[in-house]
Amino acid sequence: MRSPITDYLTEALDGVRDDDSGELAGYIPELASADPGRLAAVFATADGETYSAGDAEVAFTIQSISKPFVYALAIADRGLDAVLEKVGVEPSGDAFNELSLEDDTGRPLNPMINAGAIAAHTLAGKKGLDPAARLARIVDGLSAFVGRRLEVDEAVFSSEMETANRNLAFAYMLRSHDILEEDPVAVVEGYTRQCSLLVTTADLAVMAATLANRGVQPVTGEQVVPAPVVRQVLSVMSTCGMYDAAGDWATQVGIPAKSGVAGGLIGALPGQLGIATFSPRLDRHGNSVRGVSLFERFSTDMGMHLMEVS
Ligand code: GLU
Repeated sequence: MRSPITDYLTEALDGVRDDDSGELAGYIPELASADPGRLAAVFATADGETYSAGDAEVAFTIQSISKPFVYALAIADRGLDAVLEKVGVEPSGDAFNELSLEDDTGRPLNPMINAGAIAAHTLAGKKGLDPAARLARIVDGLSAFVGRRLEVDEAVFSSEMETANRNLAFAYMLRSHDILEEDPVAVVEGYTRQCSLLVTTADLAVMAATLANRGVQPVTGEQVVPAPVVRQVLSVMSTCGMYDAAGDWATQVGIPAKSGVAGGLIGALPGQLGIATFSPRLDRHGNSVRGVSLFERFSTDMGMHLMEVS
């Protein structure tokens, strides 16, 4: 028997299906050839139930949605103080691909912009790991959030590396400030592989539900990262997760979220729910157009805005 929640999600998808505004991420050639019609939405509850509609099992690359999870692993592995020494927590108000470093220290403003995410990538795992071992820690860690083994899409990885000059430039800047202490090229390769991990909308919803559930994966029961780490991560998502649209999002949707340029979008409602949507066309901020509309609807229909007094 279909659940009323699945019916609700199906109806919500039908409500945005005809909106063909926005563009595919053109700067990564492999993403520019994605099917723009894909559309999915999934709710995963903190007690392990999942409700899906649309293309919920179609795989795409995680891209920037990896950032909060790798930030979580970095804090879990190195401690918050060590991470704060290298990456701040202030919203930049700038696009994801602006450099946005603090003037005096060279610290990236936050871990959700590329410069901060590149720095956070190097902080996952124990200090001194080589790039391959660190990437293995990241793949293991993100797989634990999902509850199944994730793989890198090598075609997207190679395609993005061909046009990664801007991220390479950021990594060299970070190296010059000693925020990075190793070879910038190897770091950007690792970061780009992290962004090229293949996930489905159903996977993303469970990852978000793990954040909503204080770091405990609701299906496997594994404590993937400690609860205080999750508080830090959700706070940064709520102020910086939607790039230079973070203020609009905070007022209109009001739940911690993160978008990625392949068209994924997640939100975590603490104690309750992980939500994920997938629709590849992006607005000028790099956020999924139909994904943003869906979240606005979910938030309104279900009173999810965290500032709303019920
Ligand atoms: N891999 C992408 C980049 O670094 C991630 C950007 C995103 O998803 O917003 O440019």
